[in-house]
Amino acid sequence: MIKIPANYFDGHSALAIKAELRLQENGECQLLWDDVQYDFVWTEAELSPALGKTARILRLPNGAKCEISDLMVLARMEAQQQAKQKSRGLLYWVNQMESRWHFIVITVVLVIGLAFGMVGYGLPALSKSVALALPISIDQRLSEGAAGLIESELFKPSELPLERQQAIATEFIRIINQLNDEHSFSLIFRKGLAANAFAFPSGIILVTDDLVNLAQTDAEVVGVLLHEAGHVVNRHGLQLLLQSSAVTLLVTAITGDFSASTGFIAALPMLLLKKGYSRDLEREADDFVLEYMKAQGLSTQPFADMLQRISQNHEHTDSIWQYTSSHPATGERISRLRQVVP
Ligand SMILES: [Zn+2]
Repeated sequence: MIKIPANYFDGHSALAIKAELRLQENGECQLLWDDVQYDFVWTEAELSPALGKTARILRLPNGAKCEISDLMVLARMEAQQQAKQKSRGLLYWVNQMESRWHFIVITVVLVIGLAFGMVGYGLPALSKSVALALPISIDQRLSEGAAGLIESELFKPSELPLERQQAIATEFIRIINQLNDEHSFSLIFRKGLAANAFAFPSGIILVTDDLVNLAQTDAEVVGVLLHEAGHVVNRHGLQLLLQSSAVTLLVTAITGDFSASTGFIAALPMLLLKKGYSRDLEREADDFVLEYMKAQGLSTQPFADMLQRISQNHEHTDSIWQYTSSHPATGERISRLRQVVP
């Protein structure tokens, strides 16, 4: 408790009455004069601003007032009560937050949802617009690792007759040359990885012996090659790389481990091979086949037949390099292709 002398004015007469003001730590005050005691709370009274050495006036809740001359002690009172208000304010805030914990939970859920939404939806859309805006020369750089992969122990030289290779290549190049696109397409035949085909961003398309042997006509192989060309034209390799890099950059930013973010460009061919494209990108590559063949007056039937044959073929193999594993929902795709047959 702090005590301080005061001059009390009752509000009716100009007569000053000698009084004593007592301030409890909890903010309760007693004003004592003669044998009278008036109780009030500090925060309900109003203290005039400090002006040099002049006495300050404390206006009481009942309309009366006190004049206080001991400015030092008054300042102590003020400081004590201000500190109390501050800590009360903090407690109030914590209490408010506690009572709104469900609001915090919702916020956290929203933020996590937004992050996943960004990776699931925003990121693919962003990667697409960025990929399509970047120059074609980047696709060339992205395919620098292709040669290493093609010549790796995953593949052996093709055992297909040269005439068959040439017939397929000639037909594919004839059709793709009608396309107004800056990529330069080329075909590479290799043995290995079951019935498979994949495109590098530069336009190199690798097709395996098993896939060619599975086809009943060259048109079926060409259908698959056009699908791969659809990945090239739509810059899907670059999109995949941008997405993977973005996720890695995000992880890097959070963990501070920069070792994970290097070597991306070199890793792209392997990324394509192992991870494959999303269902949306596969659909886009199919759309390319549909539109392009329609424009060329060609039937999509052979491509549909080929997809069916590949998926049936893989039901009897346990190859991890399944064409169908990286090309999901084959049944749905086949029926789409059949519907648009001219
Ligand atoms: Zn594909």
